[in-house]
Amino acid sequence: MWSLFALLLGLVVGSFLNVVIHRIPRKESIAFPPSRCPQCGHPLGPLDLVPILSYLLLKGRCRYCRSPISPRYPLVEALTGGLFLLASRFYPPGVEAFLVFAFLAFLVALSFLDLDTFELPDSLTYGLLFLGLLSAYLLSFPRPFAEALDGALIAAGVLGLVAGYGGLFLRRFREARAEVPVGPHQVHMAALFGALLGPGVGMALAFLTWALSARTGRPVVLPDRITLPLLPLAWILAPYLGADLLSTLRGSFLAAGGLALAGGLYWAFKPIHEVNEEGEETDPVAMGYGDVKLLGALGAWLGLYSLLALFLGVFAGALVGLAFRQRKIPFGPYLALGGIVAFFYGEALWRAYLAWLGL
Ligand SMILES: [Zn+2]
Repeated sequence: MWSLFALLLGLVVGSFLNVVIHRIPRKESIAFPPSRCPQCGHPLGPLDLVPILSYLLLKGRCRYCRSPISPRYPLVEALTGGLFLLASRFYPPGVEAFLVFAFLAFLVALSFLDLDTFELPDSLTYGLLFLGLLSAYLLSFPRPFAEALDGALIAAGVLGLVAGYGGLFLRRFREARAEVPVGPHQVHMAALFGALLGPGVGMALAFLTWALSARTGRPVVLPDRITLPLLPLAWILAPYLGADLLSTLRGSFLAAGGLALAGGLYWAFKPIHEVNEEGEETDPVAMGYGDVKLLGALGAWLGLYSLLALFLGVFAGALVGLAFRQRKIPFGPYLALGGIVAFFYGEALWRAYLAWLGL
């Protein structure tokens, strides 16, 4: 009974996610107006909205204008139903199961939004992050709060630094434009200070430069060409300076993640409108940390298993990229897939890996 309920709930939630995926990029309200055919605009009745069945009975066409309906709609419904069914095998009826359903629904919506638009909306990445932290705080589920917070910061910090090094290499070591008051430069500085002085002081110093940037209106930052090369040097030298490598790494990732998530939140509430040469307003580009925020959100649910999610995501993304020879692939769906696998099977995979190593 519980499994059947989970499956049916997943189908209905999937139908709602289709609306979310369609409307968020168009900045339309999710609740109103009721669903319409995207081709002819005819309002859809209850009979048109039965998950999967309506699609099959109408043979994939709109009842009113006969234009084809994308098979994406029943696919999203079936996928969500299948994931809820999977969750019902792990969690008995209760609050925890419904939290896992929410976790899965966020990831389905984020994946398809990223496929459509190459963007991960802040409302959903931060929504997932704060739901994970809140659940950890109130229920110690799925992890105790300290583990969830560490997981979120470390995961965001790791991917933020990967993005930093990637950017530096792609620009052939030219300095990136620093964002005022906060941008990736502060993330990289926080990592360096955090490695040398611990995460608290690292974050405090980076927040200080953020405040100075805001006050003066110009970037108060160390160049990436200094911070990013010095950071691995600090890791290598740490053991010789009496610090242990693990706490040095932890310090830099925690501090970097703190700045990445706080900076991203700042820009989420303060969208900038850049004007291009033709005088048109373009979308805000500040931070551009969609994947970093998503992995941070996964960290709140998975703790350090979010790093396994990152590994699985990179692996799956590389396989698909090679198979289809795509240049530009959105990374969000692979991170989400890695996150779901790591959430349900992370500990089993980790134990299997240790056993394979003979530990
Ligand atoms: Zn129609």
